[in-house]
Amino acid sequence: MVKICCIGAGYVGGPTMAVIAVKCPSIEVAVVDISVSRIQAWNSDVLPIYEPGLDEVVKQCRGKNLFFSTDVERHVAEADIVFVSVNTPTKTRGLGAGKAADLTYWESAARMIADVSKSDKIVVEKSTVPVKTAEAIERILTHNSKGIKYQILSNPEFLAEGTAIQDLFNPDRVLIGGRETSDGRKAVETLKSVYAHWVPEDKILCTNLWSAELSKLAANAFLAQRISSVNAMSALCEATGADVAQVAHAIGTDSRIGPKFLKASVGFGGSCFQKDILNLIYICECNGLAEVAGYWRQVIKVNDYQKSRFVNRVVSSMFNTVAGKKVAILGFAFKKDTGDTRETAAIDVCKGLIGDKAHLRIYDPQVSEDQIQRDLALNKFEWDHPAHLQPAAREAAKQVSVVGDAYEASKGAHAVCVMTEWEEFKGLDYGRIYEGMQKPAFVFDGRNVVDVEKLREIGFIVYSIGKPLDP
Ligand code: NAD
Repeated sequence: MVKICCIGAGYVGGPTMAVIAVKCPSIEVAVVDISVSRIQAWNSDVLPIYEPGLDEVVKQCRGKNLFFSTDVERHVAEADIVFVSVNTPTKTRGLGAGKAADLTYWESAARMIADVSKSDKIVVEKSTVPVKTAEAIERILTHNSKGIKYQILSNPEFLAEGTAIQDLFNPDRVLIGGRETSDGRKAVETLKSVYAHWVPEDKILCTNLWSAELSKLAANAFLAQRISSVNAMSALCEATGADVAQVAHAIGTDSRIGPKFLKASVGFGGSCFQKDILNLIYICECNGLAEVAGYWRQVIKVNDYQKSRFVNRVVSSMFNTVAGKKVAILGFAFKKDTGDTRETAAIDVCKGLIGDKAHLRIYDPQVSEDQIQRDLALNKFEWDHPAHLQPAAREAAKQVSVVGDAYEASKGAHAVCVMTEWEEFKGLDYGRIYEGMQKPAFVFDGRNVVDVEKLREIGFIVYSIGKPLDP
């Protein structure tokens, strides 16, 4: 029986391996992590991440050919194929701080693989890494190899949170990059045979290592660039009376452009887009390509601009101050169908409003109060703050409460801000919400999900991204 081990039981490692296990009953899959609480959750009824369809897949094979464990070394030693799906955040200090990928977790995983391995292995980069990382990993493994042979493959993951299971079952493509040697080609064939259990052959793309590594960064940069392009257009629409939805439809029907990823919003979030573009910028700079770096930097700048533009719109619409006013925040996750709040636009918007002394009541169906407090740095964990910032954090904490539903959030509020496109926000009883609010009652829709006409009929003053302003 082929044995797979995946190091890192996060948003990628967990779902990806669960799908491999369910599609390949003849393969034993172990997902390992240094986080005891995460592994406990994977082994419980309440999985550590919310993802539609994930519970069913995990339940189908957990304990049969899918195992979650903290015994990292044993499972790595026993595996034929080791996926590495650890986090690769942006470096916060030292060389490349604020841009370069922090490969600390990757390096420690590679050193551990070298330490515990007793048989030849295929090591698969599942994490998103800078181009040429495989070379560094090879160096760590071969210099510590004790005669063991390693083949490094790049197999970046293209799933999107919220649709991860659907994406994994029916991927647009699976990308495998390997060395163009006979051992390299053999390793590619081995990994290909795993995916071939359910992915049609023409959807498995094989490239050289560097193309595969770079393709993942390029894919995220292109996706984020589309969002920034339509968001940049949304600002112009507001200034001119055009409607961004109409413009997006008009350009999206051009088959060269296509309709997807053309929805204007308060800005992209999530753990990947910004981090991967920063990483790309850093790689460009390291290769002396300042102009190319500047091109990609603009994608992030427009995203930041979109978030601050939204905050400014809220404040300026409410007679230039939100001090002491109550604002309901509907949604905190970076998109619907996930509880993930990493880099969510809601953080910047909430911080902007808190800075202007608004009182926020936040509701998200999947994000806990604890998580929101951490994200806004308002938590009870005061040791997170240097002493001189603690009074401000305590003060800000008094301005924020987290509540159990949208009606509670909006009761007595001067304004509602929609930050996540959860389906339930489309179907709310806005008449009831209006009744309970201060007047004039404002709705600022950061995801363009509400029915603007209907809300205006009820009496709301509505602001939607890139749409003609309330007359
Ligand atoms: P995550 O933070 O949810 O999970 C990473 C896990 O790795 C954590 O649980 C951490 O405890 C564990 N870990 C770190 N070092 C370890 C070690 N030495 N041994 C064992 N476990 C270790 O991250 P994620 O969202 O799953 O992302 C993982 C990678 O996949 C990143 O490079 C990310 O850019 C990439 N990616 C993410 C997504 C996404 O939507 N989240 C999509 C595609 C690619």
